[in-house]
Amino acid sequence: ANEHFDAIVVGAGPAGSAAAFTMAKAGLSVVLMERGEFAGAKNIFGGVIYRKQLEDIIPEFWKEAPLEREIIEQRMWMLGEQSVVTFGHRNEAFKQPSNCWTGLRVKFDQWFAGKAEQAGALAIYETVATELIREGDRVVGVRTDREDGDLYASVVVVADGVNSLLGKALGIHREWAPDEVSLAVKEVIALPKEKILDRFNLEGNEGVTIELIGQTHGMAGLGFLYTNQESISLGVGVMVSDLKKKKIKPYQVLEGLKAHPMLKRLLQGGETKEYSGHLIPEGGYHSIPSLCGNGWVICGDAAQLVNFVHREGTNLAMTSGRFAGEAIVEAHQRGDYSKAGLSGYDRRIAASFVHKDLKKYQGMHALLRDVDPTIMFDKLPYAVNEAAYQMLLVDGVSKAEKQRKALRGIKNATGGSMNLLKLGYKGWRAIN
Ligand code: FAD
Repeated sequence: ANEHFDAIVVGAGPAGSAAAFTMAKAGLSVVLMERGEFAGAKNIFGGVIYRKQLEDIIPEFWKEAPLEREIIEQRMWMLGEQSVVTFGHRNEAFKQPSNCWTGLRVKFDQWFAGKAEQAGALAIYETVATELIREGDRVVGVRTDREDGDLYASVVVVADGVNSLLGKALGIHREWAPDEVSLAVKEVIALPKEKILDRFNLEGNEGVTIELIGQTHGMAGLGFLYTNQESISLGVGVMVSDLKKKKIKPYQVLEGLKAHPMLKRLLQGGETKEYSGHLIPEGGYHSIPSLCGNGWVICGDAAQLVNFVHREGTNLAMTSGRFAGEAIVEAHQRGDYSKAGLSGYDRRIAASFVHKDLKKYQGMHALLRDVDPTIMFDKLPYAVNEAAYQMLLVDGVSKAEKQRKALRGIKNATGGSMNLLKLGYKGWRAIN
């Protein structure tokens, strides 16, 4: 007969490793199943890893985890054709202790899954979960692509990421619609450490993040540039629905960003080491499926738990994984793995920042769907750049005239004063 485990976790990303670690630490028998050759082998993100949510799982993890740079400054860049309007915040307080770090998934996921293994989880790599095994209305195990590959457990943690095969198998969500996901492409560009320190005004381990708006061919999307120890992560994510409409390939958008005069100089002399693409859940609050049922729970990207407004995903993944783990430990103690027995997971999510933050931005998806993306992601960034340029150019034209022109430019970008007001109101509603 097949061995029976307390829990099978599918996917060794941040959500799965957090769940496996939490349960193994509490003494449950746990399998952590991952299709990659090792955890993180094929995973990518921007990316920024936040302290608080991982510290709640592994205190003082930064003393041992493979992290890149400690982020002391976050910038927002609004790009014009050959210009930029900048906004940002640098603070020494971000070091005491660090608020977030840049990281590379290949190293980070391996370390995190290793922690789950050290806590007692049995990791199985190069194994794909192909199906859920059911008995009546209960999930009782996982079918894999290995010979004799059926594994049985009291509960299955579905943490297989945005393309969740198992989420679809559960029937709790369908294929995501093109406006519920963005497609991101990213390059890791090697650059000597001294150049990174100089170009970004950094010392030692300090790092900078830059979020980029504009230059996405009028499609809803954002670019990013993050500093690592000896490389730069540069990428852009664009809504799949827009890519379909415009018939533009994401790498063309990335090439455009690389050639932008303001970015080119930061990347000069760099050598592309890696190129990858991945989907990002962007459906928000209204796309979150049921989170648990008889014998299963679902966490992280598989459940659309991403706050794309703040580019937070790993922390929601880790927290949902931890909550799932804690709820399963309770269910284990009571011997009740039914939906009701696992409802501690739902309760924890509902009481946490995960639910509250996604709820706060629940209007964002509709805003992006209803407002012509060329306004927010093309015309407005241009108009703001033009306004800044005109206001700062000393050319004998009166300041009052310049101000009128700047305002007119911004109004025109949005299709007139009424539209500007409506957009402002809609934008405000979407985030409140
Ligand atoms: P994943 O990390 O996707 O892990 C799922 C795991 O499951 C993978 O290891 C996969 O190989 C495995 N798997 C899938 N199917 C199967 C199967 N059938 N059988 C076995 N194994 C399977 N978040 C941030 O917090 N900060 C950022 O800066 C940031 N930037 C991002 C930039 C980009 C370009 C992208 C794509 C995402 C970014 N995110 C960021 C989001 C973040 O990466 C995700 O929210 C997070 O990784 C979700 O974790 P997860 O464990 O749910 O899923």
